[in-house]
Amino acid sequence: MGARPLDTPYWWEAAPIEEQPQRELAKRCDAIVIGAGYAGLSAALTLVRAGREVHVLEKDRPGEGASSRNGGITSGNIRIGFRRMMDMFGRERARAIYGEGKAAREDLARFVLEEGIDCDYSLAGRFTGAVRPAQYEKLAREAELLRRELGIDAYVVPRDEQHTEIGTAIYHGGAVRPDIGGLHPGLFHRGMLERTESAGAVVHGRTPAIGLRREGDGFEVGTPRGKILARDVVIATNGYTVRHAFPWLARRVVPVASQIIATEPLDTELMKRLMPKGRMIGETRHLYHYYRPSPDGTRILFGGRRGAQTDDPQKKAEHLYRYLLAIFPELAGVGITHCWWGYVAMTYDQLPKVARHEGVHYAAGFCGSGVVWARWLGRKAALKILGDADGASAFDAASFHALPLYDGRPWFVPAGILWYGFKDRMGWY
Ligand SMILES: Cc1cc2nc3c(=O)[nH]c(=O)nc-3n(C[C@H](O)[C@H](O)[C@H](O)COP(=O)(O)OP(=O)(O)OC[C@H]3O[C@@H](n4cnc5c(N)ncnc54)[C@H](O)[C@@H]3O)c2cc1C
Repeated sequence: MGARPLDTPYWWEAAPIEEQPQRELAKRCDAIVIGAGYAGLSAALTLVRAGREVHVLEKDRPGEGASSRNGGITSGNIRIGFRRMMDMFGRERARAIYGEGKAAREDLARFVLEEGIDCDYSLAGRFTGAVRPAQYEKLAREAELLRRELGIDAYVVPRDEQHTEIGTAIYHGGAVRPDIGGLHPGLFHRGMLERTESAGAVVHGRTPAIGLRREGDGFEVGTPRGKILARDVVIATNGYTVRHAFPWLARRVVPVASQIIATEPLDTELMKRLMPKGRMIGETRHLYHYYRPSPDGTRILFGGRRGAQTDDPQKKAEHLYRYLLAIFPELAGVGITHCWWGYVAMTYDQLPKVARHEGVHYAAGFCGSGVVWARWLGRKAALKILGDADGASAFDAASFHALPLYDGRPWFVPAGILWYGFKDRMGWY
């Protein structure tokens, strides 16, 4: 394993996370956005381009949360399958939610192009491997529904043709989603930050919001550097929400660690054999792995939720490496150069949220799929502030429930991970 600290995200090599020069904190502005990940920057960019004076508060360095650490898979995933969602909410609502995912993915592609953000965006497609034979049948039914209901060109690949998608025999076939792709999350974040700042928003790194209270017809936000008054506030802190600062949100999002390893550069022929189409890859497990080639096609970046119970990067790396080898035994002996992690935010009903509570706007709870959702719903929150009809979202109707017996301290997560791991081993889906 390499000489540089193992836990530095691979993405930070091309897009190092930088300190912001310290700027003056206004006494008053139109809108304060809290959190400088994709959601916060998207809200700020929308507001500042509409002529609002905007200050963004970030407790660490901008991007230091999940937005520069993720797998870069532009899935816009909804964790509840389309069939189940129709059973739960009816066809129209299922179509509205999934349809918004489709619109959000397309909008992301348009945004990257129009803004000229150089972030290796590519519509490479995603292959989801069926871990059990019955799941292949389920993937086939889901693909058929997506084609029929939403015009998404999903299709299945049987096990005997699977080598055209991925160089493993571990899956029982799988499904391809050509509408999903990948980008370099660090470069994408950097592009958003540059555009937000050059449009006139002031981004303050190392400036945590420590409290919020009503003041006149707006809000007063406290920071260690002083207070700011603003008419509107957007909270976009997702998996990094601080319980004492924002208890309402903290009771509604559960931070869950997700981690990724990067292999050393691999032989070109080997890469072609293992990932012949350069697809993003997922699996049907509860505790699924997600993986992909690095944008330059030289390495495999392999992520998952397991093994997060230790802070030792070496142990985390070894844990994920075992799963990587189960899929690609050919990688035995290959070095792991990076192993990093970050927090995603899960919600009670597993749906992402854009919400307004007591006058404060929230965009959070992206359930591990915020590359598409955070940017999209951060923008929706801003459009709502602007009174723009485009701020309407299929997620408006979704209630944002607090989790029972939860005050923002996720004591039950290790037990939950064990439980889902047990269900995976038993084949309970
Ligand atoms: C390892 C990993 C892999 C992932 N892979 C994928 C993937 O492949 N595809 C996908 O779609 N999604 C993926 N995700 C999820 C995705 O990264 C997130 O959903 C998305 O980045 C959320 O963006 P955000 O702006 O809401 O939050 P973040 O980027 O987490 O930003 C929140 C920010 O709020 C700041 N903050 C918190 N409290 C305060 C405060 N009091 N004051 C000021 N600032 C504060 C934090 O410091 C942080 O920077 C992954 C996440 C991880 C961790």
